[in-house]
Amino acid sequence: NEFNNYRLSEDILEALSGLGYREPTRIQREVIPPMLAGKNVIVKAPTGSGKTAAFAIPICEDIRWEENAPQALVLEPTRELAVQVSEELFHIGRKKRLKSVAVFGGFPIDKQIRSLRQKSHIVTGTPGRMMDHLERGSLKLAKVEWLVIDEADLMLDMGFIDEVKKILSLVPAGCRVSLFSATLKPEIQELADGYIPDADLVFQ
Ligand code: AMP
Repeated sequence: NEFNNYRLSEDILEALSGLGYREPTRIQREVIPPMLAGKNVIVKAPTGSGKTAAFAIPICEDIRWEENAPQALVLEPTRELAVQVSEELFHIGRKKRLKSVAVFGGFPIDKQIRSLRQKSHIVTGTPGRMMDHLERGSLKLAKVEWLVIDEADLMLDMGFIDEVKKILSLVPAGCRVSLFSATLKPEIQELADGYIPDADLVFQ
């Protein structure tokens, strides 16, 4: 099993075999090693390629359970994707007992505030609601070490680009940033050039 070559902890390897992931997909082969090495990555990959696990595996491997503050933020264009990706992060981090919280608009904010107040290692959400939590102080970025901009082209189409840029400017210095997009159109390339320094480019 090629996942063994990445020196992942037993907890993560067990979670992967529980999910039935026997071998990494092509995109996972290209993304997991640089992310585990702490690099920023820009990845052109469509849904269905296994890109969620490609970032979820290194992030879940890296997160420390003991730290009681979000260590990873994942931006998604829709509520459905936020929930789906948050669940995959939960499954991959399950043996480490990582808490994965989803936040999105059109849903009472109080419940999300309560979830965030408890231990929450990974927060996945839509940019607008994420900004809302940041402004209210219910989401704190001080310990954030990973930021994932997923489905960047959809995020742009849905008009979230300003919120994405704002969040990029708010994460602590040294935060590792990865961007996933089905297409790398000029606006996405510009965002990457402006905000994601020294990234490895990975093309599916
Ligand atoms: P995604 O592109 O992240 O939406 O993933 C597409 C589908 O592939 C999801 O249903 C995943 O559960 C599944 N998947 C991801 N990685 C693997 C793997 N290494 N082996 C088998 N299935 C996988």
